[in-house]
Amino acid sequence: VERDGDQKEYLEAVYEVLDALKPVFLKDEKYIEAFERLIEPERQIIFRVPWVDDQGKQRINRGYRVQMSSALGPYKGGLRFHPTVNLSVIKFLAFEQTFKNSLTSLMMGAGKGGSDFDPRGKSHNEVQRFCQSFMTELFKYIGPDTDVPAGDINVGAREIGFLFGQYKRLTGNFTGTLTGKDTKWGGSLIRPEATGYGCVYFALNYLKFRNLDFAGMKCLVSGSGNVAQYTAEKLLEYGATVLTVSDSSGYVLEPAGFTRKNLDDIMHLKNIVRGPLIKYLEYSSTAQFFPNEKPWGVKADLAFPSATQNEIDGDDAEKMVANGVLGVFEGANMPSTPEAILAYRKAKMMFGPAKAANAGGVAVSGLEMAQNSQRQQWAREMVDERLSTIMKDIFESSLKAARDYGLGDDIQAGANIAGFLKVADAMIEQGIV
Ligand code: NDP
Repeated sequence: VERDGDQKEYLEAVYEVLDALKPVFLKDEKYIEAFERLIEPERQIIFRVPWVDDQGKQRINRGYRVQMSSALGPYKGGLRFHPTVNLSVIKFLAFEQTFKNSLTSLMMGAGKGGSDFDPRGKSHNEVQRFCQSFMTELFKYIGPDTDVPAGDINVGAREIGFLFGQYKRLTGNFTGTLTGKDTKWGGSLIRPEATGYGCVYFALNYLKFRNLDFAGMKCLVSGSGNVAQYTAEKLLEYGATVLTVSDSSGYVLEPAGFTRKNLDDIMHLKNIVRGPLIKYLEYSSTAQFFPNEKPWGVKADLAFPSATQNEIDGDDAEKMVANGVLGVFEGANMPSTPEAILAYRKAKMMFGPAKAANAGGVAVSGLEMAQNSQRQQWAREMVDERLSTIMKDIFESSLKAARDYGLGDDIQAGANIAGFLKVADAMIEQGIV
């Protein structure tokens, strides 16, 4: 694992899984070798992305695609454009994706990619030129039966459109090689909503298991992008109160909770205006903005971190414990540091780890692939029903795996074990390749 040098995020993700898999290794040693093989990605592609800015100046970024595992199907996972992207971040995301995709029970291997390109402050034309250059290299390695990328941070409907257009131009084929497409040209209904809705469906199953429900629950949401917006939307539908959203500049508190109109304003600000959250004060007279702070000290019942990795550290988690937070459901990938997870566990909080709780997005991406292969588009209700069933199944299979290994109702360990066993068995059956 360590041959790529300093890889803080990747090692953090590997150690978390390693710890959870100890009972599996003790029971059957064959799984140790499978794990050793799994942590070495099948393929890592790093490439130059040259493009020209609006002033006519050459710019260079670095592109990545880590093809982690094809044991269960074509590589599948999103693309992230953010200045913090490096090989360690992409490897950790691809690694997590392996277990997540396995948990959905759909035929998907795992990969992840992206670039250190920062779309903030870039014009529409600059983003388009960057996406076209990025795809001009990436297209050699992807395809509907080999590798099917999707969106992630800063890669939404607009970027998927530019990437798809360039892929089509280079290959001359209209195929389902990218997911998260617009519904007019091959996208699945419910895909934009899927990660947020799925996270709330997962939480619903967990709450029911503890004889609780959402009515009157006060919720902290971080982030204000795709996952955060649809997490908040579904929470409002279920009668919960959403107190906060955040972005990289700070967080907003609506003391009485966001209304539907408030949420529409957030969506307009982040999706159309593309402005920082402080501008939300122009839409609401009741909101308070806390610059450069995270929302975890606000008193609430449930937390839905939906921004980025390591956004809840040990101190943040202790604040939540002191405030009586009952559960944390990870919409983002690896938002909790190991110290934070330890604090949740000590306090016996409900904990929905990312690879289980946020699998709804990739699940509907899998359903988008199925629809593309059939040249059909399924009804919204049908996709939503499938999503809700998949999230229920993920909760139940995680619980079952935990119980099978004598770990009680440890959903975190159960999710790792259930996700791993399917991939590992497939690897073993397919031989040492
Ligand atoms: P978006 O780009 O739509 O939104 C990201 C949000 O997080 C923005 O509010 C952004 O703030 C904030 N953010 C990003 N980086 C940081 C940072 N370093 N510090 C503080 N805030 C930050 O992305 P998504 O909503 O799609 O993704 C959010 C998380 O969910 C990621 O961890 C992603 O991997 C995960 N995820 C997404 C899925 C999907 O289907 N989209 C599927 C599964 C997981 P700002 O606007 O200021 O940049």
